[in-house]
Order: sequence, then structure tokens, then C-alpha cells
Amino acid sequence: MEPYPIKKLQQDVINRIAAGEVIQRPANALKELMENSLDAKSTNIVITVKNGGLKLLQIQDNGTGIRKDDFEIVCERFTTSKLQEFEDLHKVCTYGFRGEALASISHVAHLTITSKTNKDVCAYQAEYSDGKLKAPPKPLAGNQGTIIAVEDLFYNMNVRRHALRSPAEEYQKISDVVSKYAVHNANVGFTLKKHGCNCDVKTPINSSHKENIRMIYGNSIAQHLVDMNLSNDTLQFKCKGYITSVNYSVKKFQFLLFINNRLVDSQSLRKCIDAVYQTYLPKNGHPFIYLSLDLNPNNVDVNVHPTKHEVHFLNENQIVEIITNTLEGKLLESSSSRIFYTQS
Ligand code: ADP
Ligand code: MG
Repeated sequence: MEPYPIKKLQQDVINRIAAGEVIQRPANALKELMENSLDAKSTNIVITVKNGGLKLLQIQDNGTGIRKDDFEIVCERFTTSKLQEFEDLHKVCTYGFRGEALASISHVAHLTITSKTNKDVCAYQAEYSDGKLKAPPKPLAGNQGTIIAVEDLFYNMNVRRHALRSPAEEYQKISDVVSKYAVHNANVGFTLKKHGCNCDVKTPINSSHKENIRMIYGNSIAQHLVDMNLSNDTLQFKCKGYITSVNYSVKKFQFLLFINNRLVDSQSLRKCIDAVYQTYLPKNGHPFIYLSLDLNPNNVDVNVHPTKHEVHFLNENQIVEIITNTLEGKLLESSSSRIFYTQS
């Protein structure tokens, strides 16, 4: 049989494939949008969700807004206000840097942006499809900041839409990512609600990590928190956060890990921490852990994965070991003050 001739894919097909890699489900899209709001220095973020984010995912912030002149290109691929030179990549302190999120979303959903900067007298609103403005931005009344509405996610990707879980499970993933960001960004107020319902997550502006853990994850966790705070000059890292004492135990390991402010997962850290607790907790019991790890940016490669979930860093094994040793020390302290109830 003759081979098929090789042909270049059409640009819109390329864009849609790339978009599907960045935006895998509603919770990913929302994570990108929250990061944009945080990059824009917002202090209050309100998220509204319909049907697990598949019908509507809307995020409103009070950040810097988007300049009217930028409306034209804001949803094109690789347009960003955050990075100019490749060499800048190691020192980016914003979440975004490659201008792919809004473009990707506009290829797999109906996207509407409403935004006002502090210089403009009114807000502007525009709809986007496949990276392009559908019509010139319309002026309208509005407060400073940005509202991004994502409707009918994956309307043009049947397979993806059908592969997703139920709206309830998608909502659970959304709630999970909002909760984690709310704990970590305690100075920013977060609100998450289902359209027409009461709030599921609500934290005030200028709160604390501990207070937000209590508000979101409940009193019983909050009562057993022990703080972690260590730094190491040789390996150039700092690690802060809260861990639950040996008196608290839950079926599912709750692990909130931020490395240089990015929400990530680290299998090695996760496993080592859980192993330490196995000695102290009842069978099948796990802790709640919130850790914020700051590494020298030169030692981290943030550009590894399209969803940026994975971050690799230098001296990973040694750093994990130091953290788990410190953590075990904290647990020993907390277990020596453990209260044993005995019947008499
Ligand atoms: P990146 O975040 O990598 O720059 P995005 O596609 O996420 O790429 O966003 C493109 C640009 O749109 C950003 O660089 C920023 O200038 C602007 N932008 C997006 N969301 C917001 C927002 N909520 N507030 C202000 N500007 C925003
Ligand atoms: Mg972004």
C-alpha cells in the first residue's frame, strides 16, 4: 500500500489541538483565569459556575484591567504583557508568561471579556472566537477590573466533553483549586458560588493562611495545626506552612503544595510526608498539609508541562529529606504533648 502524503495541518486545527492540551477541563481553565487575576494585582476574586463549569465559568476581579487597545490581540496565541525575552523566563514572578491561556480558551469555548482600567471612563466588552475579536469592543458601565465569562466549554470538542466527569465532580475539582488558591493567597478575597446558590468558598480580603484553612477546611483541622517554618542557605530554599498534629487524621491525604507560588504536586514529597505520618496516625489515616516552598528561581524550571502542574528543581532529594526530617521533629513535639484518655 502507498503511504499517505504528508500535509501541513490547517492553522485552526493546530490551534484547537494545542488548546485542548492547555485546557483539559473546567478546573484547569479556571486556574489559568485565577492566575491572570492574581497577576493583575486583584484583591478580590468572585467566581460563578453553572453546570460544573461546562455551561458557564465566570471570574470577576478588581485588578488592573485590560487596556482597550489590547482587546484586539489579547486572545491571540503568544500575546502577553508579562515576558519579552527568553532570558527573562527564569525570573518571571507572574504566573503567566506565554500568552496561551486566553487564546486556548477562545478556541474551545465562547469567551467574553469585560474590562476597565483606572484610566478609562467606562468598561469595554468584547466576544472572542478562535483567538479573534468577533466585533469591536462595546463601551458599557462597569467597575475597575475584569470579568471573563467562558460559556459552553468544549462545545466544538465532542469527545472531550463526553470524556469529562459529571458536573458535580467537575465542580468538586473547581472548588478544590479555588480552596487551595484561597489558602495560599490569604491577602486576596475569594468567593466561589454556583449560579443562583449561596457561596461554597468565601474568604475575606487580608485574611491569614490559618484563618482561611479554618474557614474552608473546617474547625477540626484548624484546631490541630502546627506551623512549619524552615530555611536552608546552602540549598537556597525556604519552606513555610501548616501541618496537622498526630491528633488529627483523615481518610484522604489533603496536600496543598505551592512552589514559588505555583500550585504543583510532587510525588516524592507527598510520599515521604505520608510515610512519616504512618508511624503516628491510626491505620489508613492521613494528615492535612499546606506547604509553601520558595526556591531560588534559577533552580526551578517552570516551563515543563502545558498545564505547568509539574515543576522540577535542583537538589530535590536533599530538599525533600530536610523537609520531612523537620516535619517529623514537629510531630514528635506534638505527640509528646498528646493527651491520652484512660478509663479509670
Ligand atoms: P499570560 O498570562 O501568559 O500572559 P494569558 O493568555 O493568560 O497569557 O493572558 C494574556 C494577557 O491578557 C495577559 O498577559 C494580560 O496582559 C491580559 N489579562 C488576562 N487576564 C487578565 C485580567 N484578569 N486582568 C488584567 N489583564 C489580564
Ligand atoms: Mg495567564
